[in-house]
Amino acid sequence: MIPESFKQDLLNRIDIVDVISRYVQLKKGGANYLGLCPFHNEKSPSFSVSPAKQFYHCFGCGVHGNAIGFLMAYTALGYVDDESGRRWSAVVRGDYVDGQTFPKLYATYDQGAALPIGHSSVWVRSAAGLSPGDPAMPFANFFFGGFGNNYVDHLDEKRYRAWYSFPGATLNEIGGRNFVKSALEWNLPPWRFRRAGIPAFYATWARPAVFVSALGTNLDAADARRTVTNAGGQIDFRFGVLSVLDLTLSVGGAMALERGHAPRREAMISLKILR
Ligand SMILES: [Zn+2]
Repeated sequence: MIPESFKQDLLNRIDIVDVISRYVQLKKGGANYLGLCPFHNEKSPSFSVSPAKQFYHCFGCGVHGNAIGFLMAYTALGYVDDESGRRWSAVVRGDYVDGQTFPKLYATYDQGAALPIGHSSVWVRSAAGLSPGDPAMPFANFFFGGFGNNYVDHLDEKRYRAWYSFPGATLNEIGGRNFVKSALEWNLPPWRFRRAGIPAFYATWARPAVFVSALGTNLDAADARRTVTNAGGQIDFRFGVLSVLDLTLSVGGAMALERGHAPRREAMISLKILR
């Protein structure tokens, strides 16, 4: 999370016209600069940048914001999501509980590739972890389950991408001292709405995705081992309200399968308020 004070400081030092003109050809028109909106298809410019207010606004699709907002929206390739790349992390941590330390080690590796159909991508997200603690102690275990979205919050809407989420199973339902997990995700081409709804409340885009994953825990202990697979999907709808508020409504569903268990299903709905 970037501290708000740092963002403010950064915004005071940069000029939005400089930033945006690196990506969009801008022409001066009166007090503002105008260009073709990079967030929707258009032939005549309705994308306006105000040097006085340090804000951009599109009269065609309603996108707006400051320089940081522009960069975040623009560089999130395909404008709504990362389309390719690699990310990894390795974490060693110790949870100190009731005089005992529970060390844990885990690593994640994500790799994504863009598909040749409009802003569609495939990602493989893998993770593995190990905890040497006493298996009977909850803090010595990793837990998985659920989409992880709360009904209303401001966190990332694609929570199923987290290494500890496992849609279909209930929250923290699957535990183990060691685990291997891999997920395959297909982000379908986003739908962009030209202008759906009334000007005060309009849909900007929708982003559908489907995924399948597999998780194994307690791989070294046959009696405690669990192998679970799941399949699901999620669609995020972005709405603008009165040009000042962005909302993301997410709906998802998933099914988890495990030998010896009836199939489990999860439905998820959440609303994020972005500004
Ligand atoms: Zn636009």
